[in-house]
Amino acid sequence: MQVLNSSWDVTPVVRDWQRNSDRIGFVPTMGNLHEGHLRLVKAAQRNTDRVVVSIYVNPMQFGESDDFTNYPRTLKQDLQKLEKLGVDLVFTPDDESMYPDGIEQSSFVEVPSWLSTQLEGAHRPGHFRGVATIVTKLFNVVQPDLAVFGEKDFQQLLVIRQLVHDLNLPIEIVGEPTIREGDGLALSSRNQHLTKQERQQAAGLYAVLSELRERILLQNMAIADLEQAAIMQLEQKGFAPDYVAIRQSETLQEPENPTDSLVILAAARLGKTRLIDNLRV
Ligand code: AMP
Repeated sequence: MQVLNSSWDVTPVVRDWQRNSDRIGFVPTMGNLHEGHLRLVKAAQRNTDRVVVSIYVNPMQFGESDDFTNYPRTLKQDLQKLEKLGVDLVFTPDDESMYPDGIEQSSFVEVPSWLSTQLEGAHRPGHFRGVATIVTKLFNVVQPDLAVFGEKDFQQLLVIRQLVHDLNLPIEIVGEPTIREGDGLALSSRNQHLTKQERQQAAGLYAVLSELRERILLQNMAIADLEQAAIMQLEQKGFAPDYVAIRQSETLQEPENPTDSLVILAAARLGKTRLIDNLRV
């Protein structure tokens, strides 16, 4: 397994593989890898000949009140896990090589506001600009045929599908289901910031979303009332919810027809930790 931290070194390696007609799979991550990330790698391996994983905590997608400095960084263990899976190349750039002129001076990619300024975008202004920009940059370095993302970050997955569509990027985007703990809590690098008691409470988020899904299927309450009831349930379980939203799963717009395919998205704080999750209906 090659580990490279300069984009100038990555591109020739990938070009060599392409000359060999190998299909390239790519999994961008911020490291601190858990089973959820490893499933994405395995999905890439099933679909391509060579797999590249990037590990980079992208400062551009963190806001001022976000947890950029506290974000867990565990490169050594991450590399061991990837080596064990048989990953071909890990790209571990530093800020200097991703933003040589500084973030403020750098060009950026912005997905349209109907998708990027609601839900996560409303609570984390600039977040999706940071995500869209770094993913585009990484795509340009790695030049993958296929890239895999988790449904755990449902809105992010749609943002990436939109940017690939809008910018004519010749890359297939694959979404993989969320991997959960036994009690339903979605695996996340941020879970380790939970205290023991908060960790027990945290499963309540999945429980509330699951109950909400049942209620939607019964179809006997208005959407806004269902969302409000779920917010109150989260508060009773000790969460400070940012939002619970029932949306169309293709566009994240509000439901219009009874036949719309739906997704429930939620974000809530537990102490200092902010958790997000979603469930398809
Ligand atoms: P991150 O390192 O948190 O930026 O995540 C890197 C990729 O892993 C993203 O595509 C996430 O959606 C995905 N991911 C994170 N947690 C999970 C999970 N529990 N199950 C599946 N995919 C996940």
